[in-house]
Amino acid sequence: MTIEPLLISATRRQDTHRVSIGAVEVGGHTVPIIAGPCAVEAGYVEHAVAAHRAGASVLRGCVLKPRTRPGSFQGLGTTAGLPLLDEAKRVTGLPVIAEPLAADDIELLRGHVNALLIGARSMHNTPLLRAAGQSGMTVILKRGMSATYDEWLAAADYVAAEGNRQIILCERGIRTFETATRNTLDVSAIAVLRDMTDLPIAVDPSHAAGNARWVPSLAVAALAAGADALLIECHPDPAASLCDAAQAITPEVLSRIVQTSQSLCAMTRPAVAGSVAGCRAMIDTIDDAVFRMLEYRAAMVAAVQHHKSAALLPERDRVRENAIVERLSRHAPRLGEQRVDRLVHAIIDECLDAVPELSGEAVA
Ligand code: PEP
Ligand code: MN
Repeated sequence: MTIEPLLISATRRQDTHRVSIGAVEVGGHTVPIIAGPCAVEAGYVEHAVAAHRAGASVLRGCVLKPRTRPGSFQGLGTTAGLPLLDEAKRVTGLPVIAEPLAADDIELLRGHVNALLIGARSMHNTPLLRAAGQSGMTVILKRGMSATYDEWLAAADYVAAEGNRQIILCERGIRTFETATRNTLDVSAIAVLRDMTDLPIAVDPSHAAGNARWVPSLAVAALAAGADALLIECHPDPAASLCDAAQAITPEVLSRIVQTSQSLCAMTRPAVAGSVAGCRAMIDTIDDAVFRMLEYRAAMVAAVQHHKSAALLPERDRVRENAIVERLSRHAPRLGEQRVDRLVHAIIDECLDAVPELSGEAVA
């Protein structure tokens, strides 16, 4: 059974190819968030735990780092880094991704990582693309910083030509004349590539923004445009990151992006109503969104009560309550006016009941 979502991206494909990163599926009904520090560094296991607690479903575990300057921190390397990845996977139960810089790195990463990240600088490295294809491992292929869609898809063809279609494309911003951001996030890529390929499309707002303050806006833009996954740099102490400190967000900010992603998912992605488990998963997602909004509504009710009491207005206004029921009945014709009436009054009653606890916050 198909249940229409509230808003379906005009370009959303029902037949997006599903790609796995461990037990996590990309291109399906949820939008996994891949997060962790830019580079694996000492303390990585705690960084991974923080990303997991914030709601990440896959860990960034880059033990090797391509850096612009040779003197910059290049990552812990495989010998020191891979045991940390293994431990982070064991503790969190999450799959992990890492970037091979050369074809030989792939065999070193095998068994430790669940997907290979091909960085923007490597998108044109055809021997590496071929080796990633031959590995049979899932490949997250970043867009080169000046690559057209055609060139990017041609790079994906190098992986696919080796018999490996476990490919996720990742938009990470392109080089433009603008210098305020590190790169310019090309949101159009999500819409346009839907028409060009069935491969799932991830977005990395971190390397596009280059500044932690702008990452949430770009993440939400990508989600609204229908991105299938997000790749985000997150560090419990961003300023202490050994790599890309300016763009690392805190776990608190990550958890707000995860919450927004879950709410948008319920509104934009088709539900799987074909099984008890599928229906329950979507019901949980919808309930998460509904109750976050109810919490927000209750705070707003406390604020309006504060203003009403200052203006000597009565606590309840039946004319307005009836108008609310009438308006919401139009949004929920299948529920019908009587049920909407009962639900609205239950919500109003419970929000008013919470006013004494919330009014301190509202006044402040
Ligand atoms: C990365 O994600 O670690 C990275 C280096 O980004 P990009 O390849 O997009 O520059
Ligand atoms: Mn980085």
